[in-house]
Amino acid sequence: MAGMPDVFTRLLAEHLPDRLGRCAACGGASGGSGTRWPCTLAQIAGEARALAAEQGGSRRTTPYPAGGL
Ligand SMILES: [Zn+2]
Repeated sequence: MAGMPDVFTRLLAEHLPDRLGRCAACGGASGGSGTRWPCTLAQIAGEARALAAEQGGSRRTTPYPAGGL
């Protein structure tokens, strides 16, 4: 997923904690006890974003050079 920034960017934008610390995307619909944040998707997306940041990705704003290995 690290190669698909659009995917995890959208996931991170949707899977955010509400004021009760639950994922708004996973538990918002039920109205009851939702999924605690970070949910699985938020964790995966967060890790993917961190990986992309380490690898430099295609963003010019990153301070790291591409192919730093
Ligand atoms: Zn979620």
